Amino acid sequence: MPSVIRPIVTFTLGSIIAAMVLALLPFDSDDSTDEAGDATSVATASSAEVTTDNATDEPEAEPEAEPSWVKHTIARGEVLGKILPNYGLPTRAVLEAASDIHDLTRIRAGKTLRFRFAPESEAADALSYKLDADRTLVVENQDGIWSARVEEIVYDRNTTIREFTVQRTLWGAATAAGLRPADIVSLAEVYQYDIDFNTEVRAGASAKMLVDELSVDGEVQRLGAPLAVRFTNRKDEFVAIQFTTSDGRTRYYDASGKARKRPFLRSPLRFSRVTSGFNKNRYHPVLKTRRPHNGVDFGAPTGTPVHAVGDAVVTWSGPNGGHGRFVKLNHEGPYETSYSHLSRVSVRKGQRVRQGDVIGYVGSTGLATGPHLHYQFWVNGKYVNPLTVPLPKGGEEVPAADRKAFEAHRDALILQLDGELPIEAAPQEEADVNVADAGL
Ligand SMILES: [Zn+2]
Repeated sequence: MPSVIRPIVTFTLGSIIAAMVLALLPFDSDDSTDEAGDATSVATASSAEVTTDNATDEPEAEPEAEPSWVKHTIARGEVLGKILPNYGLPTRAVLEAASDIHDLTRIRAGKTLRFRFAPESEAADALSYKLDADRTLVVENQDGIWSARVEEIVYDRNTTIREFTVQRTLWGAATAAGLRPADIVSLAEVYQYDIDFNTEVRAGASAKMLVDELSVDGEVQRLGAPLAVRFTNRKDEFVAIQFTTSDGRTRYYDASGKARKRPFLRSPLRFSRVTSGFNKNRYHPVLKTRRPHNGVDFGAPTGTPVHAVGDAVVTWSGPNGGHGRFVKLNHEGPYETSYSHLSRVSVRKGQRVRQGDVIGYVGSTGLATGPHLHYQFWVNGKYVNPLTVPLPKGGEEVPAADRKAFEAHRDALILQLDGELPIEAAPQEEADVNVADAGL
């Protein structure tokens, strides 16, 4: 899963560079004050050592005194430039230290910041912010220098069963079964090649999943990527088994050992709703005329990530008249797709992208009445309805060498799912797969 590891490596590199820069600065000033040779220059040099050491042997005056953490949930309209000084933090230094890893000015209302206070100190000396399910950003003051790093969150795992039946909406049913939004997304990702969770799930659909609860200090934070799922929608049953082949690739397979991965995702957005379908004779809400609607509109908030539906080369990235900020992809074979009205594009013309890569974000640039994604699909240069076009099937199989292992693994998981075997930690579930990033 190189794409899971890549961002972490990037961050590490970022902090190494930050550490190098930090290491250089004090030595420079040390040189410049060398003639003076006073106590200040000595102190500066030693603080540089502490910084490059990642503070493993920070000198401590009172080892028994524990720092305390204060939680701050960002309210609507509250800005970082006001929050940080309230906790005694220098806004600019903190933002600059964090900038290699995360742009803190972009965090929104509802998110939580935590501030660390040394005993009896009135100013915080560290800030932590949860970047995603697995990583926390820590910005810390060590001897007057602010630096940032990424900490991996370590979870305790407990394998369990979750199930629900859709009454009205998938979200309602899944939420009632204790799934959080991120858990629903990871369930949707298991089936992203088979079912568009936006449009295709019907009342009566049901899911039963074998899944790890991930806890910190005894408190469940979220679920892991499902180990096995049985999803029934209308008359179709979809079984998905998470399995890692001997070459280390983790994917979802159906019960027969066919990979669920397909050349195309059902939808470029994880969740949204269709606000306007493919229609050869539509009344255009902005132009006030009848003209064909050669794509599908998905309503979604500005900033929602838009995913490449398949591996492709970017053939257009940037403004394109009424389409606003626009990305067009040329896929293998006769297929092309495009994505209009983006608030931001995140790919360049000529770039290769992989299925699931974020190519831009939902917006309302060009001719648009509000934020939405206008999604087009071509086969042999002709517009087709992306919701109904027959898509090529992939169907890569479990390698022959892993066949026996897969069958044993599948049988054990299905027996556990059906309550015929006690639930045990599956032999394979060491790695928590980030389904989206792993390109499963
Ligand atoms: Zn449209």
